[in-house]
Formats: sequence, C-alpha cells, structure tokens
Amino acid sequence: MLRIYNYQDLNTDDLQQLVQRNVDPANEIRSIVETIIDTVREHGDNALLDYAHKFDKVKLDKLYLDKAELSELANALQPEQKEALKTAYNNIYKFHKAQLVKEDKIETMPGVTCWRELRPIEKVGLYIPGGSAVLPSTFLMLGIPARIAGCKEIVVCSPPQKSGKVNAFIAYVAELLDIDRIYFAGGAQAIAAMAYGTESIAKVDKIFGPGNQFVTKAKTIIQSTTTTAIDMPAGPSEVLVIADETANPIFVAADLLAQAEHGSDSQAVLVTTSEQMAEAVIAELAKQLPTLPRAEIAGQAIANSYAVIVNSLNQAMQFSNLYAPEHLILATESWEQITGDIINAGSVFLGNLTPESVGDYASGTNHTLPTSTYARAYSGVSVDSFVKKITFQHISPQGINNIGPTVEILAELEGLHAHKNAVTVRLQK
Ligand code: NAD
Repeated sequence: MLRIYNYQDLNTDDLQQLVQRNVDPANEIRSIVETIIDTVREHGDNALLDYAHKFDKVKLDKLYLDKAELSELANALQPEQKEALKTAYNNIYKFHKAQLVKEDKIETMPGVTCWRELRPIEKVGLYIPGGSAVLPSTFLMLGIPARIAGCKEIVVCSPPQKSGKVNAFIAYVAELLDIDRIYFAGGAQAIAAMAYGTESIAKVDKIFGPGNQFVTKAKTIIQSTTTTAIDMPAGPSEVLVIADETANPIFVAADLLAQAEHGSDSQAVLVTTSEQMAEAVIAELAKQLPTLPRAEIAGQAIANSYAVIVNSLNQAMQFSNLYAPEHLILATESWEQITGDIINAGSVFLGNLTPESVGDYASGTNHTLPTSTYARAYSGVSVDSFVKKITFQHISPQGINNIGPTVEILAELEGLHAHKNAVTVRLQK
C-alpha cells in the first residue's frame, strides 16, 4: 500500500529523492536499446520481424496492414463503440483546431514588417503503444493534430497483437484519420525504424508518442544521434492528486488506481492536508484494487507510490511544483484559489468531478504529456508540435532608411564588415 511521508520531516535531499523517477542508474535499458537501434539500422525489416517474434511473440509474414485490411478489422466494432470513438474524435478535433492561430504582422519600425507563418512538418512518425494495453486513444491524440497541421506523410507504428494484427479499435481510428498503413513494430525497434528508415518504413522528421522505458530511451537516444526530432520524453504515466478535507476518498482512490493500472512502473502520488483523508484513501484503495482486472499491475504501481501529508494547500502546491506531475488533479472545492500557483504540470484536472480519465479519452485535451519531471520544461502534444513557425520580414524603402543606420553601427561594433556593407549598399541606392 501507499507509503506515507510528513512534509515537515523531509529535508531538501529527501524531497529531491522522492520526486525522482524513471531512473536507469546502471544504464541497463540504454544498453538494451542501443543494441536494438544498431540491429535495426543494419538489418532493417528483417530485424523488425525478428523483434516481433522475440518481444511480441508473433511470427509475422508481412510488416503492415493496408487500408482494406484495416477497414475489414474495423467492421468488428459495435455501433456504440464507433460512436464513442467518434465523439472523442470530434471533441479532440474541436479543441486542437482552435490552436491553429494565424499571427498578426508586426511593424516594428515604419517600413519594417515581421511575422511568423506556420508550416507543417512534412514527415511524421506516430508510435501507438500496444504492449500491456492497446491505446486507440493515443492514436486519436497524435493523429488529429497531425492532420490539422497538414503533415503530408504520417507513418504509424504499433506492436503487433498476438493475432498478428492490430486491434479493431486501432483499425477504426485509422479509418477516421484516413491513414493508409499501420506498421507492426513496437518498442525501441519502431523508434529506430522511423528514425533511420527501413525497406518498408520511411525515415521521418519527427517522432511522436508515449511508450514504456524502451520506447522513451530510444527516443532520447535518436534525438541526439540522428536528424529526427522527438515530441518529448513521454514515459511511464503518473498522477499527483492534491486533496483536502473537501475531497471524496472514493473518487481519489479511483483516480490513483486509474493511473496505476497503466503499468507497474506508473506512479500515483497523493498530497493531502488531512491525515484522515490519507487513511480514508488507503482504505478505499484496499477495497477497489482487488476488483480490477489489472489488479496485479496496479498493485505493483501503488507499491511504488506514496502519500505526503502537508500543512496547507500552498505547501501541497510547492511539493507538486517540485514533482512536476504529468497529470495533476486538484481534488478540493478550493481549486480556484490555488490554480494560479501551478508552475509545473502537464495537464490539470480541477475539482472533485473532473477525473483524469475524461482527459485521457474524450474531453478534448491531449493525453500525450511530459513525464519524469519533464513538465518543468516541456508542454504536452498539440498542433504546435506538428508545425514549424517560420519567421518572415519585409523592408520597404522607408524601412531601410529607418533601420539601416542601427544595423551599420551594430555590425561595425562586432567587426562584421560584410554585414554592414549589405546595408550600406542599399542605403546608397
Ligand atoms: P509499449 O508499446 O510502449 O511497449 C511494448 C513494446 O516494448 C513491445 O512491443 C516490445 O518491443 C518492447 N519490449 C517489451 N519488453 C522488452 C524487453 N525486455 N526488451 C526490449 N524491448 C521490450 O507498451 P507498454 O509496455 O504497454 O507501455 C505503454 C506505456 O506508455 C506505459 O508505461 C504507459 O504508462 C505509457 N503511456 C504514457 C503516456 C504519456 O503521455 N506519457 C500516455 C499513454 C501511455
């Protein structure tokens, strides 16, 4: 069950220790992943087929499903299942479409006009996790902003299921997103394939998507060793719930377990102003956990999690900002008082009736979010992640007269005479 700490008893080192996660101290994961990346670089499709056999326990005779095969698989869905995916699609689409904002042109001096325009990243790769749970919701979260941004080529990789196919929900989302193919590749090998390209899989400019430690490590390695960018290091999922005496322990326990069932390496942290609340939540966890089909996984994650007792909501927020959670739930009626103090978090859920699950699936916000303290510096996936913002400028005759002398002086100051001359020849004209 949850370990309990008292904030007052923790010194700076204890706090740093407590908020640290997802470490690979002996570089074990790195070494496994580096071997996988090298093997995919060298043996391409054959390596992917071998790894599907080794890790996913499937003997594949080809590496992808095409549109017709996906459509046939999608037929297996019930109408209400399709309807639920369509509702999620529509909400996510609406929320993300509003992010496509055209910026104003700014005249910084008379005749000197600067502005930015968006251009899509042409080739993007989407990783849809599919190891311990298949996540069609992640496909929506990545595919919708990619389509809104206007990316030309969208490569999709997901681990093959035991059937040698992808599941019907993934197939239906492919249909909604008008995706041509889904490649059977999971883990670090999928990331390597999209970063280097293989006989079947095109090399992409940027790779998106969450995944387990192998996926995340592969993304961080290829980011520094290839010209392929990544969205962010989005690893094992985590939630931090701030609860005061106005919270409902049944809801709080349910939210902690919703996170814990993702994987045994997930973390669910409770920060509460009330010792009774901590005890009530722990009692509820004991009741709810055994009823879950994924009780074993969730139980392991809860064993790696903890509760912190604090003096006030402000102190709770201090801890939360240090932890920088992927998901932050404010289970308090006073959420409006502390929302302004949030500095580090991926996505925030306000009040007692806003479970993280709504954001995971269907409210509209994106669920691909920075984990492992990366919320201190990264944002979650959005349409912005799929575009470049290119700056433009235009100088008129009046503009060159206005700005020219300033640039001449600054270029002189830096000793860059060719720079100065590029202005001078225009001023003389
Ligand atoms: P996954 O698709 O990430 O990984 C499955 C693959 O891992 C397999 O296909 C296999 O190739 C590889 N693998 C498994 N064991 C291996 C081993 N011993 N050595 C090398 N490779 C191995 O699926 P998953 O495992 O279910 O993990 C999904 C993860 O995504 C969870 O940790 C979940 O918390 C996380 N997630 C994060 C976010 C986010 O936004 N941060 C969102 C959704 C899910």
